[in-house]
Amino acid sequence: MTIDEALGIVKQTELCWIVFSAETGNVLSVDGVLSDETMANKFEHLGNLSGFGQPVMTRRFKSSSVTREILEKHQTEAEQRKIRVHVLTEWSMATTEQLARILEHGQYDAPMQRDFDSKIIVDNLWELHRDELTPVLRERLEKLLTSDVLCFAAQTKLCIYLTALNGDEQKLKAIWIGAEPGRNCWDDAVALMDALAYVRTTDQEIIGDMLKIFDTDFPFGGKLSTMIALGKIGPAAGSRVADKIRSTVYDSHPALVAVRDRVLERLESEEGEWLVCGDCCYGQVRNQTGFGAKPCPKCLGIGWRSINE
Ligand SMILES: [Zn+2]
Repeated sequence: MTIDEALGIVKQTELCWIVFSAETGNVLSVDGVLSDETMANKFEHLGNLSGFGQPVMTRRFKSSSVTREILEKHQTEAEQRKIRVHVLTEWSMATTEQLARILEHGQYDAPMQRDFDSKIIVDNLWELHRDELTPVLRERLEKLLTSDVLCFAAQTKLCIYLTALNGDEQKLKAIWIGAEPGRNCWDDAVALMDALAYVRTTDQEIIGDMLKIFDTDFPFGGKLSTMIALGKIGPAAGSRVADKIRSTVYDSHPALVAVRDRVLERLESEEGEWLVCGDCCYGQVRNQTGFGAKPCPKCLGIGWRSINE
C-alpha cells in the first residue's frame, strides 16, 4: 500500500492500527479501531497479524497524529536496521586484521557509529578471535586505549581483554574489586568474569564475590554468565562452588538446566577428565543465524568437553 493510500484510510478513522513490514517499513494495512474496542478486540487484532507472510510491526495511533513524515520515518528506520544487520553480519565474519583496521580507522558510515559499535567489534575480537591476537596485534590494539577511535565502553572492555591476554591476574583483580577503574556496569563485570576465567583464577576472594551473585535476585542471565565463568575455571575453583550452584540454581528451562548440569559435572570431576572443546573459541561460536557470537552447542559455552563424551 502506498503512503497516500494509507493516509486516505487513516483520515476516515479516529484511532487506527497500522501494520508495517518489519523489513521495509512499508504500510501493509490500516484498520480503524472500534470506538468501543475491548481488550478482546485488541487481542483479536494482534492475533490476526500472522497473515502477511512476512515479519510485521504493528502500532496503534491516534489518527490525527499520523502524518506522511511518520510513515516515511518507518521506512527510513527499517532501511537503517537492514543496513545495520548487514554490517554486523559482515563484522562477525570478518578476519581479525579487518576488525583491527576498522577500530584503528575509527570511521563509521551511518547508521553505524563509533559509540557502542566499536564495543561490538572489541567483543567480536575477544569472543571469536582471541587466540589470533598476537603480541604485535595486541600492541596495535593497546594504542587505541588512549585514542578517541573507541567509545568509552569499548576502551573499558578492550583494556579488560588485553589484560587477560597478558595474563595479568592481579590487574584484573584490581579492576574487579574497584581498586583500579574499569568496572562500570554489569557488562564489564561479565567481561571481567570471562577474563578471570581465561587466566584460570583460583583467587578465593574473587570466587567468593562471584558466588554472592547466586544469592541475589539478579536476573537469571547474570547468574548464567557467572555459572559459565566458574565452569570454565573448573574444579580448581573449589568445592563450595558446586554446592552453591546446586543449592541456588533450580530446575527451569531445559537449556539452562543442561548448562547447570554440565558446569556441575565439570566442577565435580578432575581437571584431567576434560579437554578443550575444539569446536569453539573458549565456548563461543559465530552466530550463523544472525550476527556476533553465541554459546557453542557442543560444550554449552564452557569451552571444555569431557574425555568420556
Ligand atoms: Zn565448544
